[in-house]
Amino acid sequence: MAANIMRDPIRIAVVGHVDHGKSTLIGRLLHDTGNLPDGKLAELKETSRRRGMPLEWSFALDSFQAERDQAVTIGTTQILLRTATRNYVIIDAPGHKEFLKNMLTGAAQADAAILVVDAVEGVSEQSRRHAYLLQLIGIRQVLVAINKMDLAGYRQDRFQVVRDEIVRYLSGIGLAAHLVLPVAARDGDNLTMPATTMPWHSGPTLLAALDNFAASPMPIELPLRLPVQNVYRIDKRRIIVGRIESGALRVGDELLFSPGNQTAAVKTIETWPPNAGPAEAKSGESIGITLDKPIFVERGDLASHVTDPPMLTHNFRARLFWFGRTKLTVGASYRAKLGTWVRSITVHSIDRVIDTDLLNSHEAPFVATHEVAEVTLRSQSLLALDDHRANPALGRFVLIDDHDAVAAGIISMEGLADERRAAVGAGNRFGTEHLLTAELRARRNGHRGAVVWFTGLPGAGKSTLAMEAERRLFLRGYQVYVLDGDNIRRGLNYDLGFSPADRVENIRRIGEMAALFADAGLIVITAFISPYISDRENARRAAKSSFHEIYIKADLATCERRDPKGLYKRARAGDIADFTGVSAPYEEPVNPDLVVDTASQPVEEAVRAILDYIEQNIVFNSTAAAVT
Ligand code: GDP
Repeated sequence: MAANIMRDPIRIAVVGHVDHGKSTLIGRLLHDTGNLPDGKLAELKETSRRRGMPLEWSFALDSFQAERDQAVTIGTTQILLRTATRNYVIIDAPGHKEFLKNMLTGAAQADAAILVVDAVEGVSEQSRRHAYLLQLIGIRQVLVAINKMDLAGYRQDRFQVVRDEIVRYLSGIGLAAHLVLPVAARDGDNLTMPATTMPWHSGPTLLAALDNFAASPMPIELPLRLPVQNVYRIDKRRIIVGRIESGALRVGDELLFSPGNQTAAVKTIETWPPNAGPAEAKSGESIGITLDKPIFVERGDLASHVTDPPMLTHNFRARLFWFGRTKLTVGASYRAKLGTWVRSITVHSIDRVIDTDLLNSHEAPFVATHEVAEVTLRSQSLLALDDHRANPALGRFVLIDDHDAVAAGIISMEGLADERRAAVGAGNRFGTEHLLTAELRARRNGHRGAVVWFTGLPGAGKSTLAMEAERRLFLRGYQVYVLDGDNIRRGLNYDLGFSPADRVENIRRIGEMAALFADAGLIVITAFISPYISDRENARRAAKSSFHEIYIKADLATCERRDPKGLYKRARAGDIADFTGVSAPYEEPVNPDLVVDTASQPVEEAVRAILDYIEQNIVFNSTAAAVT
């Protein structure tokens, strides 16, 4: 046990309002535990004397800070503190921006935190913000030190007032302080020894309380995540190199590489300098591996076990702390760094801006510097990631704007679906070799097969237009069929509901089936809300060039006025959850093949626009005429 503790020190972040005494607390703690280098105390006394001030413990950190200045990439001071029972790493951040950035990028992960609050000044806005940030990054072990009790006359009633206020705030954000204790850091009261100045306090000292904290579970217990840093070619062997962020792997393990979704088994684990190649590697180790098959793997891919893969998605929700100098706005693009990949992302929506002081949230068109917000981010490419709750190592990211980190945050996939099945299946039908070609079918039918994909809000007119277009195309002699909620949800997809995952699966099946219809030579019109761009993109991949996206457009107010099935009314009344337009998002097509605006166009005009489009783009023109 002891050996374990030595190897894995517990990491404690010290946070709080500037001047409430963080550095003093750390300096004094170092001294009282015998961790100050020889001669340091005399030096501190001398410096303080020269400046004509009482002993200033915070100067003890200066030497550590000098080291920090050299290690600019770290940006936090990390000090080793040894006690009889265990080792600590004390993390002191010059400011909450650096602290948060480092916490979220994993450069300085803390297991627990001490929040320092000045007994006289009380809980400040910054105290609250820091507490909120601890909660944001998932630190659950928090100890509050109400400091400078000497200046508050060591009064119990003052301690209680400040304690009650911070406890109230913490419980408001779902954090329970393990202990709130009165200290006078400068004098060492209640740090390592009980203070005689505050006999009314009978709890443990700060150090005794820290001893009760547990180091966070090692990432080794989590599923395997190995972001690929590089692929080297050495003597015809391809060596895949990266650092295992969580979990472990063994020779022979079947690995899945995301987002490409290819699998291969680990043939060897390489090390440098080369030796007999270990059979196992685990989180925290940088390794090279070779595979048993020559699959295509590149930098930025994420390796996992086949059985416990990361999620694949185009969208993710993020709770982020914005420290960019300009505002974060909807539509803005940044580079997001997650694992070893850097992808460009766009801000799809700002869902709420959180006031960390008053703990309320509001909708806002932008996020200002130093605000915390929940946003939805979107990428053009498929991303492999984890929800922060499932895997902190892969569940966080940093946004970069022009080489500057402007935000750090954690990922939530709540309400979003894993797109793996949809993404992997789409377009992967390796048909049996038909003896008939698409062209032969088109000649017989007089038109190509096609998927005419309608998308739009409930009540926009998709079904009405689809049925009318179907009727007229049929009359003109075309092979045409409409897929809509009635014939799909009652049969093929009767097992699916309206949860995000079910919605994705619903559209996936429709997309695949529509693609088969088109392959068979039919014109198939689909009339589904299909609110997510990524789902429609998967349907497009399935049908390839036969896919045509038609946006049946009408503004929300118009759709709600029409409310043909009374669904808006029920959704507004709260009877239907996740109703598109009301309580679930609708993502407009970015570049549809045709837009039909039913708010301003009568049905007849809209149908004609659709028929014109189909005749121009799908109908097998001159040759068709010759064959029929
Ligand atoms: P930081 O900005 O949170 O790191 O705060 P410092 O540790 O630099 O402390 C700010 C000031 O408060 C310094 O002048 C300290 O000497 C003083 N201070 C810190 N702790 C105590 C204490 O327990 N009692 C008194 N009287 N002063 C303290």
